[in-house]
Amino acid sequence: MKGVEELRELSVAQDLLKACQHYIRTTGAAGIAKIVLGVGELQDLDLEGLERYFRSTTLGTAVQDAQIQVVRYPILCHCRTCKEDYILCPDAVVSAVCPVCNATSHDLISGAQMRIEAICATEEENRRFESAAFR
Ligand SMILES: [Zn+2]
Repeated sequence: MKGVEELRELSVAQDLLKACQHYIRTTGAAGIAKIVLGVGELQDLDLEGLERYFRSTTLGTAVQDAQIQVVRYPILCHCRTCKEDYILCPDAVVSAVCPVCNATSHDLISGAQMRIEAICATEEENRRFESAAFR
């Protein structure tokens, strides 16, 4: 299964590069300083592998110096029986039981997502640092 997982990190890295290049084309930005990636706890993503593939995929492009900042989201469930929301740890997903009423039927509210939340161009990042310095 290891090979499959590595392919996934590679495809995420390629998606990030594509999104950044689109951003550069549409905004005229000189480069990308940071990408904020939102990843739910259900996503079994190897962040080191992603970083490695991202470095090799973006090498020689305007995106090569970009940092990847990952925001993890907990697995949030909504109980269909008592309507309570509760957070699961990733290991408990298979046998998910509501801590309030012990029902097993729930809707997943959050935790499966993987999306780009922000792309910061190099200049934007510099501006942000400047304004932070004056606070
Ligand atoms: Zn419940």
